[in-house]
Amino acid sequence: MSTVYPETLNRLIEEFEKLPGIGPKSAERLAFYILKAEPAEAMALAGAIRDVKNKIKRCEICTGLSEEAICQICSDPRRDKSSICVVEQPKDVIALEKTGSCKWVYHVLGGHIAPLEGIEPSDLTIDKLVERVRSGNVKEVIMATNPNMAGDGTALYISSLLRDTGVKITRLARGLATGSTIEYASGKMLTDAINGRQELE
Ligand SMILES: [Zn+2]
Repeated sequence: MSTVYPETLNRLIEEFEKLPGIGPKSAERLAFYILKAEPAEAMALAGAIRDVKNKIKRCEICTGLSEEAICQICSDPRRDKSSICVVEQPKDVIALEKTGSCKWVYHVLGGHIAPLEGIEPSDLTIDKLVERVRSGNVKEVIMATNPNMAGDGTALYISSLLRDTGVKITRLARGLATGSTIEYASGKMLTDAINGRQELE
């Protein structure tokens, strides 16, 4: 880091550099933008960062993102609570919701099983999901983990845990390219995958 800058400016550049996709040049550009910005604009950014860390928590039911104990989707009386769509990340909920074809509720796992990366089933919210399925009037569990090896493996593992519940377990259709992710799939592709979902054997 250049020493010609005042220490506080260096610190801001260093913080920006930690963000994904931001190299040293971009970090410098962002820091100078903040430096020149109106105080109110810069403080609004600082406030938004603080609020997102202070106010966003995990929904007690689905573990998705929420500002309340129970998220908007779980507390919506129009939602079909007998269908639970299982996704890896909160971003997947947003991608699926954008299709407008979902009436179900969700369960956010917090990732996928990947023993080589040290991610075991106990690191995810699988226990909570099994508990939900066993205690509720659940009729269908829709596996919407990513269509890659880790996502498929996670879906199969969970379906094996739920087999004896008699609940119908489906997987989003293979319209989604293998190796792709829910997050980046187009709305049309996701809608097709939702409508063409098949029962997991
Ligand atoms: Zn929820």
